[in-house]
Amino acid sequence: MFKKIYKEIKKYNTIVIARHIGVDPDALSSQLALKESIKLTFPNKKVYAIGNGSTKFSYMGKLDKLEEYDNFLLIVLDTPDKKRIDYKNYNNAKSIIKIDHHPFIESFGGIEYIDDKACSTCEILMELLLKTKLKCNEEIAKLLYCGLVSDSNRFLFDSCTSKTFSLVSTYLDKYHLTLSNIYTSLYLRPLKEVRLEGYISLNMKVTDNGVAYIILTNDIITKFKADSASAGNMINNFNFIDEILVWIIVTEDYKNDNVRVNIRSRGPEINKIAEKYNGGGHALASGARLSSINEAESLISDIDYATEIYIKKESFKNEN
Ligand code: AMP
Repeated sequence: MFKKIYKEIKKYNTIVIARHIGVDPDALSSQLALKESIKLTFPNKKVYAIGNGSTKFSYMGKLDKLEEYDNFLLIVLDTPDKKRIDYKNYNNAKSIIKIDHHPFIESFGGIEYIDDKACSTCEILMELLLKTKLKCNEEIAKLLYCGLVSDSNRFLFDSCTSKTFSLVSTYLDKYHLTLSNIYTSLYLRPLKEVRLEGYISLNMKVTDNGVAYIILTNDIITKFKADSASAGNMINNFNFIDEILVWIIVTEDYKNDNVRVNIRSRGPEINKIAEKYNGGGHALASGARLSSINEAESLISDIDYATEIYIKKESFKNEN
């Protein structure tokens, strides 16, 4: 399959690389890394990495302005369904390649490489670059490492396998990355966000089934001088709390007139519930977008019920 992807890339002079809406480090760095790799391998090709960026990730590199493209190959990274592609004109592409690590939702009708066992899209690209003639350098390796570390939450998830570590080991050997620089870029954050995290810790509610949740209205976000994405970015920091099995942050996003939801779990699968609320994601890491804050109650109650069932099933298994 990697050879097929390489051949398709070789065929086109114009290549557009897109990814999911609501940019995150794996989506963005996989996009920028693949762009640089194609340009390094084929200097005469026109390659564009497109979509809405975020100043928070500006250290990774710049995205290209949206243009009218002609006779182009579209590569969609880290996106399982068409409605989440951060590029509305995907139908204009002559050919499509999808590379993703989310559970399968729908086909895009072209070449598809989906490995939902991979910890990140960057992990898949690490393999693609090693197994084809696509070139790599230190900058590209750094981007790939950055996305992989971020999406695996620093190698904490079960999706990190011996293959992940083997790929990382190969890249570290070959490109001599300075890890402390990468971690500083990824994890440095303003004090106001730490204070907001303190507020969440103090004020989140926890149900009898161990579902923690907090609803952050625009007033609270404004009080901490944070933005609507800040709380969601710290969702992983609430892992490994003994009394909490599933945790949910609901944030009012005034600017975009919707409500962001970030959900994480250490047991019950949450992505099917997230799908019911205009969301989706991985079994234990999902997100959703609500049209109003009133919907949050029903989402929390669905998750709480699923958690209750999960706990019952687990205790039944342990008793037998
Ligand atoms: P987040 O909580 O934003 O870090 O997202 C966790 C996972 O859920 C990622 O794989 C996202 O791509 C996915 N996700 C987040 N929001 C949505 C959404 N509204 N619809 C579908 N998937 C989502």
